[in-house]
Amino acid sequence: MPAYDDQNIFAKILRGEIPCFKVYEDDETLCFMDIMPRTDGHCLVIPKRPCRNVLDASDAQLAAVMSTVKKVANAAKTAFEAEGITLQQFNETAGGQEVFHLHFHIHPRHDGVSMRPPGKMGDMDVIKGHAEKIAAAL
Ligand code: 5GP
Repeated sequence: MPAYDDQNIFAKILRGEIPCFKVYEDDETLCFMDIMPRTDGHCLVIPKRPCRNVLDASDAQLAAVMSTVKKVANAAKTAFEAEGITLQQFNETAGGQEVFHLHFHIHPRHDGVSMRPPGKMGDMDVIKGHAEKIAAAL
């Protein structure tokens, strides 16, 4: 597996070099909105310490990330009055990963509503509002 590359986009977000719509932060993890949301409320949870994905993460990183995933998933479910939550997590290019810093996608889901196709930039004002909505439910 290739080494961690600290020029990936999420490493830049962690260093404050590019902005994000923050939802939640603690000593070990950060949650922020995906800028190409496939669902309303689509957000990402990452560890603050570097690792590419689940395959090289430490048990402590995984535990911290999953704790935040559970916390934010429940808040997002409440905020969007969702009936369910889909989690997505990809490992290496063959596994569908595009940004090589470990992340879990959180998607609030409603019965009968499909996820939107990937790769379409969202409206920044709408995404900002969704971040605030989830943060308020935490
Ligand atoms: P994955 O690696 O899980 O396939 O996908 C990476 C995710 O990062 C995609 O859902 C994409 O929309 C999101 N993404 C890519 N660039 C940025 C960015 O600059 N900011 C944010 N907030 N999300 C991004």
